[in-house]
Amino acid sequence: MAADQQLPDAARIVIIGGGVGGASVAYHLSALGERDVLLVERDELTSGSTFHSAGLVGQLRADPALTRMNMYSVELYRKLQAGEHAVAWTECGGIKLASSSERLQEIRRQISWARTYGLPLGEISVREAAELFPLISTDGVVGAAYLPSDGYIDPSQLCNALANLARAGGVRIAPRTRVVGIDVEDGRIRRVHTDKGEIACEIVVNCGGMFAAEIGRMAGVRIPLIPMSHQYLVTEAFLPERGDPLPTLRDPDLLVYFRQEVNGLVMGGYERDPEAWTATVGSYDAVPADFNGRLLPENWPRFEQIAQNSQIRVPDMADIGVRMIVNGPEAFTPDNEFCLGETEAEGFFVAAGFCAHGIAGAGGIGKIVAEWIVEGQPSLDVWHMDISRFGRDYRSPRRTLVRTLESYQTYYDIAYPGRQRIAGRPLRTSPAYPWHAANGAFFGEKAGWERVDYYETNASRGDGARRPNGWAGRYWSPAIAAEHVATRTMAGLFDETSFAKIDVSGPDAATLLEWVCDNRVVRGVGDVTYTQALNRRGGIEADFTVTRVAAEVFSIVTGTAFGSHDMAWLRKQARRCGARVRIEDVTGRDVCYALWGPRSRKILARLTPADLSNQAFRFMTAQQITVADVPVRALRVTFVGELGWELYASSEFGAALWRDLWSAGVDLGLVAGGYRAIDSMRLEKGYRVWGADITPETTPYEAGLGFCVKLGKPGGFEGRDALVASQERGAERRLCAITLHDPHSVVLGNEPVRIGDRIVGRVTSGGYGYTVDASIAYAYLPVADAEPDTTVCVDLFGDWIDGVVAAEPLFDPAGSRIRAS
Ligand SMILES: Cc1cc2nc3c(=O)[nH]c(=O)nc-3n(C[C@H](O)[C@H](O)[C@H](O)COP(=O)(O)OP(=O)(O)OC[C@H]3O[C@@H](n4cnc5c(N)ncnc54)[C@H](O)[C@@H]3O)c2cc1C
Repeated sequence: MAADQQLPDAARIVIIGGGVGGASVAYHLSALGERDVLLVERDELTSGSTFHSAGLVGQLRADPALTRMNMYSVELYRKLQAGEHAVAWTECGGIKLASSSERLQEIRRQISWARTYGLPLGEISVREAAELFPLISTDGVVGAAYLPSDGYIDPSQLCNALANLARAGGVRIAPRTRVVGIDVEDGRIRRVHTDKGEIACEIVVNCGGMFAAEIGRMAGVRIPLIPMSHQYLVTEAFLPERGDPLPTLRDPDLLVYFRQEVNGLVMGGYERDPEAWTATVGSYDAVPADFNGRLLPENWPRFEQIAQNSQIRVPDMADIGVRMIVNGPEAFTPDNEFCLGETEAEGFFVAAGFCAHGIAGAGGIGKIVAEWIVEGQPSLDVWHMDISRFGRDYRSPRRTLVRTLESYQTYYDIAYPGRQRIAGRPLRTSPAYPWHAANGAFFGEKAGWERVDYYETNASRGDGARRPNGWAGRYWSPAIAAEHVATRTMAGLFDETSFAKIDVSGPDAATLLEWVCDNRVVRGVGDVTYTQALNRRGGIEADFTVTRVAAEVFSIVTGTAFGSHDMAWLRKQARRCGARVRIEDVTGRDVCYALWGPRSRKILARLTPADLSNQAFRFMTAQQITVADVPVRALRVTFVGELGWELYASSEFGAALWRDLWSAGVDLGLVAGGYRAIDSMRLEKGYRVWGADITPETTPYEAGLGFCVKLGKPGGFEGRDALVASQERGAERRLCAITLHDPHSVVLGNEPVRIGDRIVGRVTSGGYGYTVDASIAYAYLPVADAEPDTTVCVDLFGDWIDGVVAAEPLFDPAGSRIRAS
C-alpha cells in the first residue's frame, strides 16, 4: 500500500507485524488464494527482531514436525534465491560438533531419525569436520554430524522478498500503522483499532514477535512469551578469500555457534545466566512504544563465558578484533517451542515466540499457519507448537519467566527423554501429594502437576538386572518393574488426579458430542465410551472417554497435558454448531485414583456397600457409590488391561480416600504405583497415547482404532467423509507392535524401522513390558509389511536391533482379565 493510500475499513484477515513471521504468513495466505488480507506494521518492515538476526538456518530440531517445517523453509529460500528475489541464501552446509560422548550419542540418535524423512544428515569424522571448518581446534571433539543443506540468509532481504511476493499475490501492506486495540465480541474477533482508524475483520494473526504478548492482551488473550536479550558478535575480517564459504558450526557442549560473515565470523551462544528484558516476576513485558530498528546496549560481562568458550573451539577468536556486538531482544517461550495456532478467541491466531530460530522456521511457520487459517487445520502434527498446550498457569508472569529462563539456560543441553524441568515446582498437587512424598515418590511434572513416576521405596522389590541400556536406563528404577508386576498379580493404586476433566452440559450437549466424536457417546446414563474426536481430514484431534452423567451432562476425561487443547477443540466445534452448551474445565475439582489388578474388587468391596459384581457393575459403566466415608463416582475402566475402577471424588475428600484405599489393600499385597508402570502395562495392552501413537495426522483406521468408528450413526460426525474416502482408497499404513530381540535395547521414540534395506517407518512410542518380558516399540508400517512375524530392525543410536512384528495386543488378547468375575 502506498504511503498516501487510505487504510481500508475492512479486511477478512489482518496480520499484525511486518517481521519475517508476518511476511511469511501473508505470502502463504496469498499462495492459498486469500485475497482480502491486510498486513499492518507499526514501524517499517523488518524493524523488530528480524533485522538484527544472525541469519543461521539449521534444520534439525528435536521435533520431527519442526524439522520438516525447516526443511520446507530451505526449499523455499533456495527457490527465492534462484528466482527474482535474491535473499543472499548461502547453502554452505552445517556442522554440529560433539565435545562429549553423550553428545555423540545424541548426534547418532538424530542422524538415525533424520533418515526417516530424508534429511541428509550424516556422521563425519573429527578430521573431516576440521577439513570443512579449518579454524577449529579438535581438542576434546569426539565426533560430528554434517548437514549439506543448512545455510544462512539475509533476514531483512528474506522478509522483504516474502512481503513483495505477498503484495504480488494481492496482500495490502500498511507500514507505520500501529494496532492499539482489538475487539472480541461473543468470543470472536470483530475488529482492530489502529492509530489510523478501525478495520473490521474476521481473522487476526498476531505476528508481533516479542510484542505478541502485548498484542494478545489487547484481545484478553495470554501469549506466554518473554523478550530475552540474545547476543552475538561479528569479528573483523581475517579470513583469506576462499571459493566456498565455511559451513555453519555449532558446538552445543560449549554453548556456541558460528557462521562466516564476509571475511570474518559471526559468533553467538546461549549463556547460562540469561537475561529477560522488560518482563519481571511481578509484571508482564513492557517493550517501549518506540523500540523499532533498535538494539540493546551490549552486555560484555554476560557474554564473557561464551567468548571464552568460542576461543576453545576456534583459537583465532582470542586474537581477532571484534567489529561489533549485537544485543537484540527476541521472543522466547517457556518450553523453547513456537506459539502457533488459534487462541481461545475465535479468529485470533498467533505465530510468534520463535526462540531465536524464526529465520530458520519462517517458511514452514508461514505455510502451517496459513493452512490452519484457510483449511481449518495444519497439514502436520504441530501439537508441540500449538498455543493451546499452555494452560492457565502461564497467565502468571512469574511462572512464564522462570520457565523461560530455565529453557534458555538449557537451550543446548541434551534433551534426554524423561528429563525434568525444575523451575516453578511444585505448583499443582493432588491431596495425596504429602503421602506420595513421604513414601519415596519420584515425581515427574506435566502441565504443572506433580505426578508420581514411581516410588523409590518399591525399588528393592524389583529386578535391577532389567535396567535398559543407554539413555533408556537413565531415568529408570527397578521400582517400575515391581509396581507393574504387583499390579498384574495383586493390585496397584495410582494417583491420576492430574487427568484433565471437562464437563459438557446443556440442552445441546448430546448433539454436540455426537457430532464431535467418532464413537456413539450418547448412550444410557452411566455408560462410559472410549472415543476419538477427529478433524476434517479424519485425523485424531483428541482421544478421551465420555461418561454420560445425566441426560444433559457428560464428563470427559483426557490426558493431563491435553486439557487446554481438548477444551479449545470442543469450544471451537460448539461455536461452529451454535450449540447451547457449557464446557467447563473441572480438573482441579475432583481427585482420580485408579485401583487395578486381580485383587482390586476384593479391596474395594471392603470399603463400599455397592455390588461390584460383573452383573451389577459392568465394564465401561459408571456408578455413584460410597468408598469408606467418601461419595465417589466409580468408573469401571482400565488403562492397564486389568480389572479395576477409577474413583473420582471431590478434592476435599482426596487425602482420606487415598489413606483408606491404601489401608484396605496392604494385607492383600496392594502396591502404590506410578505412571511409568502404567505406561509399561498399557504398551502390553496396545492402548494408544495421543501425541505419540495417534495424532492429527493419523486416522483411527490406521491406528487400529476402527472399532470406535461408527460410520453409520445418525447425523454423521466431524471427519466422517474423509474417513469414508480414506476407506475407499484403502489404508496405506497401520500401527504395529514390534518386539525387539534384545531385551536391554529399549526405544525412546522416533527411531527408524527398517525392513531389508528399506526404511519403512518411525517409532511412535515404546518401552519394556515386564509381564510379556519384551522390549516393545510401536510404529506405523506399510500395510504390506504390517503382518505379524515380519522381521524388522530398529535403529538405536546407530545400531540396528532385530525385532519382529507381533500380534496385538501382546497381553491378554481375549480381555478376560478386565472382565474377570
Ligand atoms: C540477536 C539475535 C540473533 C538471532 N539469530 C537467529 C539465527 O541465526 N537464526 C534464526 O533462525 N533466528 C535467529 N534469531 C531469531 C529471529 O530473528 C526471530 O525469531 C525472527 O526475526 C522473529 O520474527 P517475527 O516476525 O516473529 O518478529 P519481529 O521481527 O520482531 O516482527 C514483529 C513486528 O511486529 C510489529 N508490531 C509489534 N506491535 C505492533 C502493533 N501494535 N501494531 C503493528 N505492528 C506491531 C513490530 O514492529 C515488528 O516489526 C535471532 C534473534 C536475535 C535477537
